[in-house]
Amino acid sequence: MRLLGVLGGMSWASTQHYYRALNEGVAARLGGLHSARLLLHSVDFAPIARAQHAGDWAATAAALGEAGAGLARAGAGALLLATNTMHKVADELEAASGIPLLHIADATATAVRGAGHTRVGLLATAFTMEEDFYTGRLREHGLEVLVPEAADRAEVHRIIYDELCHDVVEPASRARYVEVVQRLADAGAEAIILGCTEIGMLIGAEDVPVPVFDTTAIHAAAGVDWLLGG
Ligand code: GLU
Repeated sequence: MRLLGVLGGMSWASTQHYYRALNEGVAARLGGLHSARLLLHSVDFAPIARAQHAGDWAATAAALGEAGAGLARAGAGALLLATNTMHKVADELEAASGIPLLHIADATATAVRGAGHTRVGLLATAFTMEEDFYTGRLREHGLEVLVPEAADRAEVHRIIYDELCHDVVEPASRARYVEVVQRLADAGAEAIILGCTEIGMLIGAEDVPVPVFDTTAIHAAAGVDWLLGG
């Protein structure tokens, strides 16, 4: 099995789900006591989140680049960056580490297209919903991307940082997300991308009327494929 470098802690609440999914995926494919060969560098999220909100992406790129280079030196053959938002600095991270990055938007778009959808709604942090690094990448795969209107985007963003990143799951927030999904579906979204790695803790396929694509599960599955030589 190959050795995967995981950059996590953004937040730790979702990284624990990645760790489980990577190990369950390898066990499902190889059976017995097989588990994922991985190195995890889990950062302190506070300075990263502060820099995001201050617009200091160079600081986040430097911190992640250093961590990624460390994982490469320790023997990782590829990187899995366990957050959608920080893919804003994917190119800098890949350059600093010198090893390939398993891009979360590529894996997600491939899954969505594979299921036959072209018009998707996106729930994510404001950075991911509003800037081009993510929606543009999805569009390169032939997807049309709908994002919630401004007030909904602000609420979706707030719930991610104030609740989900603290591992807090509130029924009232689930209801808010379901309303936002309904509005996206009414606007023509055929499916919804949970484009933030904590959102799968809050809503799933059973909560909404359209198919759901959870980036954490999809990205972890891409990690398993890579580990097993795919
Ligand atoms: N985990 C989230 C994401 O997938 C948000 C936390 C972050 O800003 O990295 O975007």
